[in-house]
Amino acid sequence: MKKALFPGSFDPFHNGHLEVVERASQLFDQVVVAAMRNPQKASPMFDLDERKRLVKESTSHLENVEIVSLSTLVVDLARSLEVTVIVRGLRAVSDFESELQMAQMNRQLSGIDTVFIPTSSEYSFLASRLLREVAQYGGDISSMVPGPVAKEFSNRYGEM
Ligand code: ADP
Repeated sequence: MKKALFPGSFDPFHNGHLEVVERASQLFDQVVVAAMRNPQKASPMFDLDERKRLVKESTSHLENVEIVSLSTLVVDLARSLEVTVIVRGLRAVSDFESELQMAQMNRQLSGIDTVFIPTSSEYSFLASRLLREVAQYGGDISSMVPGPVAKEFSNRYGEM
């Protein structure tokens, strides 16, 4: 069985992330999406449990997708879940350098390879950091995130 792990901060989970999960769910028998703490991204907007719930609600139409949330090394989680590959999304060349380095480090640590799924051009501008900024200043991000995430933003910041 081919099992994939898609780790990320998902703060918040957006349509670019969802597309990666949907495509990975076609490529692999099982996909585990892990909402993780990123030490380089201090003070998240949503805590881990909220992120896990929002990813779960946003992917409820996908039968072979399971969600976890953890504060651990990606490779430790990958090993304990016995996954075949780690999946990451690629938006642009700007993502490539850090993603390549991370993939090489993870392979060195665990022997597990990373598969990159290139985003569709319609989602390539989407980034969680930008969505947080736009929403905090009252911008309407509802077309860029799955329904459950849009609802959570409107609860926090009022109608968009
Ligand atoms: P991280 O903290 O791990 O970078 P993110 O939540 O920002 O977490 O991203 C998780 C994964 O989703 C990364 O592989 C990232 O490249 C990918 N990703 C982010 N935005 C997009 C997008 N618009 N399209 C496709 N993949 C994306």
